[in-house]
Amino acid sequence: MSRYRGSVCRMCRRENMKLFLKGDRCFSDKCSFDRRPYAPGQHGQRRSKVSDYGIQLREKQKVKRLYGLSEKQFRLTFSKAEQKKGITGINLLMHLESRLDNVVYRMGFVNSRTQGRHFVRHNHFLVNGIRVNIPSYVVKAGDVIEIREKSRKVQAVSDAMDAVVRRGVPQWLELDKDGFKGTVKSAPVREDITLPIQEQLIVELYSK
Ligand code: SF4
Repeated sequence: MSRYRGSVCRMCRRENMKLFLKGDRCFSDKCSFDRRPYAPGQHGQRRSKVSDYGIQLREKQKVKRLYGLSEKQFRLTFSKAEQKKGITGINLLMHLESRLDNVVYRMGFVNSRTQGRHFVRHNHFLVNGIRVNIPSYVVKAGDVIEIREKSRKVQAVSDAMDAVVRRGVPQWLELDKDGFKGTVKSAPVREDITLPIQEQLIVELYSK
């Protein structure tokens, strides 16, 4: 899978919003978007008219980058969302939100989704007592996610768990900080995603 290896802060500046891709730095005065809230590159400060297609494309890129997926993975997730009953755009967001790499981030075990994916891949987590190292694993209500005993002393985990107070844990998840585990109380709902996302634009883009 091809991976973007450039500056992730450029993505926030391109999408014109903070995507919180760098953990603590995103909350500090070092945040590039706070310092330069315009698109990167030589012509980043130019105002240009954006077409409907451009608006839809940017919305898709924004969500894809927020959850750290490649185009192929994102398209596949969209296809799954289409096949489910209900509103495709909401199905898509709920599927992304239920990914294990996102859930460990939302529970506060790691500082970013990228770090979440890395830690899941390296076997730091158990789901219902079983080791799961698939970042795209979709959690369901009742699942218990736990940091493995030997991983509890990892500095990045302690740092993230200290910082979780500032970020807060969404209502569909429950964190037992002392037990190094969290429970999925229910499936997420649209209101749990507070960032400004217009998922309908993504559906329109892929329907062309
Ligand atoms: Fe985005 Fe975080 Fe970089 Fe700020 S510090 S631009 S929020 S990734």
